[in-house]
Amino acid sequence: MIEFSATIGGKPAPVGSVFPVLNPATGEEVGCAPNMGAAELDAAVAVAKAAFVSWSAQGDEALQAACAAVTAKIEEHAAELAEIITLEQGKPLNGLGSRWEIGGAVAWAGYTTGLSLPVKVLQDNTQGRIELHRKPLGVIGSITPWNFPVMIAVWHILPALRTGNTVIVKPSPFTPLSTLRLVEIMNEVLPPGVVNVVTGDDKAFNLGGAMSAHPDIAKIVFTGSCATGQKVMQSAAATMKRLTLELGGNDAGIVLPDADPAKIAEGLFWGAFINNGQTCAAMKRLYVHESIHDAVCEALVGYAKNIPVGNGMDEASILGPVQNRMQFDKVSRLVADAKERGKVLLGGAPGEGLFFPPTIVSGLRNGDALVDEEQFGPALPIIRYSDVEEAIRLANDSPNGLGGSVWSSDIKAAKKVASRMACGSVWINKHGAIQPNAPFGGVKASGVGVEFAEEGLAEYTDIQVVFA
Ligand code: NAD
Repeated sequence: MIEFSATIGGKPAPVGSVFPVLNPATGEEVGCAPNMGAAELDAAVAVAKAAFVSWSAQGDEALQAACAAVTAKIEEHAAELAEIITLEQGKPLNGLGSRWEIGGAVAWAGYTTGLSLPVKVLQDNTQGRIELHRKPLGVIGSITPWNFPVMIAVWHILPALRTGNTVIVKPSPFTPLSTLRLVEIMNEVLPPGVVNVVTGDDKAFNLGGAMSAHPDIAKIVFTGSCATGQKVMQSAAATMKRLTLELGGNDAGIVLPDADPAKIAEGLFWGAFINNGQTCAAMKRLYVHESIHDAVCEALVGYAKNIPVGNGMDEASILGPVQNRMQFDKVSRLVADAKERGKVLLGGAPGEGLFFPPTIVSGLRNGDALVDEEQFGPALPIIRYSDVEEAIRLANDSPNGLGGSVWSSDIKAAKKVASRMACGSVWINKHGAIQPNAPFGGVKASGVGVEFAEEGLAEYTDIQVVFA
């Protein structure tokens, strides 16, 4: 049984009641986490507020050195953190699984450590000098989802620290254990109160909602569903919080008539099925030109049918179970509906426990639930089109706008189509390949603001203009 206490003010917080955390591969209890309420949240915010005074007063070099030490700590504990992720999240240790997630967390932490926001001189002449300074905000509240628990926490925490803020992080009740351990590890090299964690089961008390409304939290960085993101925005209004909202997506891929099916099959598969499709910027709808539709379906199914699915602790597994019952039921419902409307090319029936095999359904259209809703699971709808203009229109006909992709042998033609897709990131001949040096965020209902790179770092600051 994995049991970590919550670190508040550099110390383990007293543990009252706890809630169970299940291993999605077996259904067994793998550990438990503290079930915290308003008093614990207030205590965490108070220590983070107190720690902000000296943390934010440090010079830039000291902040950078502290972030480098945090990065080294995550790297030192990579194997342990990967194992906890596999046990609570379900993704395999192997493949694009938990070891890969920790590799990403280290890469992001390292890159963010190296970023800076130097003073900008806007004017320096006989009329005067004007400088633009970036000031930390105070206490940052980070609320994370269950799909990439450590990597997303690192995306939130490192830029906050790098810019001189202090943090309270709240993981999803489905995957709290890796975050509890991550914060414990970070506290080995940070002053007390700089990074704190609170956990709860979202039943007795709505911790995320309380954070979003808390008067002493200056900003919420939230990654999760659109519906919860809207609630965060509402709760944050009264205290005029800064917000970064990274929300759901329903990313479209468009395969142009000149694409080579054999060459793109592997990229299409991983674009859609990375982390079992439980990825914000996974490809969730695929539009294929009628002239190569059957060849693309055949190549994709040929690649997908050989992917081993199983318990993530087994090195042979490349995909694991769906993370939780709610998500499993959603995928089951959407696939059952799609079966009535289209043709199942692979999978299509729920497996044992929370296992759901990679599923590909052709013959679907906009308006079908598997096309219109974010499935967030291992089921890809394929839509046949005859005219590229029509494909662009159908791809953009969504309230979401996180990512998109175009697949073609002609990069110039693909870029033209890409520029017309209504989304924050667009890829050619790949999907979902995010990097720490490129800003990432959604348009329309997929969110507000960006993460990563200088643009993402700046979101943890307010501007102060100095007229000298
Ligand atoms: P979710 O919205 O159910 O939960 C996210 C977090 O919000 C959890 O920590 C939860 O406890 C907390 N929460 C619940 N109620 C709250 C409230 N009223 N106020 C504040 N916080 C509250 O999302 P999820 O199911 O954990 O994650 C899946 C969703 O996240 C998908 O829609 C996916 O696309 C999205 N996502 C987006 C990105 C991105 O970068 N855009 C990345 C990963 C996941």
